[in-house]
Amino acid sequence: MNTVQQNLKLIREDISSAAAKSGRKTEDITLLAVTKYVTIERTKEAVDAGIVDLGENRIEGFLEKQAAIGDEAIWHFIGSLQSRKVKEVINQVDYLHALDRLSLAKEIQKRAAKKIKCFVQVNVSAEATKSGVSPAETLAFIQELAAYPAIEVVGLMTMAPNTQDEDVLRSVFSGLRQLRDEAAAQNMSHAPCTLLSMGMSNDYKIAIEEGATHVRVGSALVGPY
Ligand SMILES: *Cc1c(COP(=O)(O)O)cnc(C)c1O
Repeated sequence: MNTVQQNLKLIREDISSAAAKSGRKTEDITLLAVTKYVTIERTKEAVDAGIVDLGENRIEGFLEKQAAIGDEAIWHFIGSLQSRKVKEVINQVDYLHALDRLSLAKEIQKRAAKKIKCFVQVNVSAEATKSGVSPAETLAFIQELAAYPAIEVVGLMTMAPNTQDEDVLRSVFSGLRQLRDEAAAQNMSHAPCTLLSMGMSNDYKIAIEEGATHVRVGSALVGPY
């Protein structure tokens, strides 16, 4: 198994070249290590290698890693969140990547002791198995979130289909970027909506070329699982 440091070196090179290719700055791209399938030890290895942003998709794993690592990291909750579980985790989260319904916003409003930075999850590829609001509903959804002052919409998030087809991936990522541009252009005070969380191990280079500001990389960085 490679060390995280070895993987990280290669991924950082990829990030720099994808950024350069699309005329962007490397420092505008945040690499999240998705640690959901790995141990606390392997997660610490990532932090020691210089990773600051950590992502988990389940409450148990999130709280366990956070208890072990603490404030050294920035904590991203990237999975779908059941409303009844919001109270267990919301005040520990620095960024929530999967805001996808008003009932969740309402529960966050009820439980949050601070403003919560949220990405609205969009189901750009319209796959039945994926959560997220539809592209057509996204702007109206963001507008409705103005009624929940605990929520700050920092950007949009999507999961691309599991495919190697570059054209499909590019059209999903550029679709999210266009929606982000439309939302940001509305200058809503609760929704600056400047960020784009998109790209995983298979497709982060393409996502960066299409404008990703946050890539969520698991297996290529801390794997093999
Ligand atoms: C697991 C997961 C990732 C990382 O997936 P890899 O293919 O291992 O890089 C990214 N985003 C979300 C929402 C995930 O659940």
